[in-house]
Amino acid sequence: MRLTVPAYAKINLSLDVVNRREDGYHNLRMVMQTVSLNDTLTVETTDAPGFVMRCNAGHLPVDGKNLVIAAANRFFEYSGITPCGLSIDLEKRIPVAAGLAGGSTDAAAMLRVLNRMFKTNYTADELRAMALPLGADVPYCIEGGTSLAEGIGEILTPLSSLPECRILLCKPAFGVSTPAVFSRINWREIVYRPDTAGILTSLEKGHLAGVARRMYNVLEPVPTRDHPEIGEIRRRMLDCDALGSVMSGSGPTVVGLFDDEDAAQRAYSVLRAQYHDTFLLRPMPRQTV
Ligand code: ATP
Repeated sequence: MRLTVPAYAKINLSLDVVNRREDGYHNLRMVMQTVSLNDTLTVETTDAPGFVMRCNAGHLPVDGKNLVIAAANRFFEYSGITPCGLSIDLEKRIPVAAGLAGGSTDAAAMLRVLNRMFKTNYTADELRAMALPLGADVPYCIEGGTSLAEGIGEILTPLSSLPECRILLCKPAFGVSTPAVFSRINWREIVYRPDTAGILTSLEKGHLAGVARRMYNVLEPVPTRDHPEIGEIRRRMLDCDALGSVMSGSGPTVVGLFDDEDAAQRAYSVLRAQYHDTFLLRPMPRQTV
């Protein structure tokens, strides 16, 4: 049996750090959105035992260090099913270490694929419970869509969909390590915070501009200190008439929201001329498991 599924990237419309827990993790409050940029995961059962993985991104591991294989191990451990041989092909399009949950969404896709392949009929809640040990963003990636994520990212509340719009992503030519950013943030010293309640109200009203102008990420100043380019890309999006702009996750990808197709196309051309990883996208709805 062979299945192919898309694994969509996520962006943060907002990211707030609420406090730091005893175990070192931070409690967060984030408005998350999946976008129409995806990796493609193909999984096929094989007669020979073991997992064999190929990936077009040569620098990524293809052993247990890849979150796709970690997810397969987790699935067999959780379900008690004896692992069969799997041939796994991952076509990466989502930039790595970009703040777009690339690895997390691939892991979530693997859990969804195996749930179908083995007809285990786990509910979305069960898949999310299975997903959490793989990473804090993996439970969200099981269904994606527009969601509020709290706790370390595992307490999820579905929200009204982001209104139809154009989403511009631009990643400068360096990656950012998520743990390194969190180790440099002191939640007690955060002065500016996103108006999360205002974003939720704007989503309920279907008011795109209200969402866009409230987008804010408390982590943004951290990588921007070393890489002022992040702020420059944000300003260039606003100069091109983005309704709002923000860094996603721990960065460095910058997001811009547009309600005007021409303005979005212009901004895309301007940034794509300088940055290879520039994408003009649309919001994706929640997907059923
Ligand atoms: P987040 O937004 O959740 O912090 P990210 O987009 O910043 O995620 P990833 O692209 O998930 O970061 O990559 C982080 C690290 O995870 C990479 O350095 C990579 O070695 C490792 N990794 C393991 N599996 C994968 C995968 N399938 N795709 C991408 N990275 C992976």
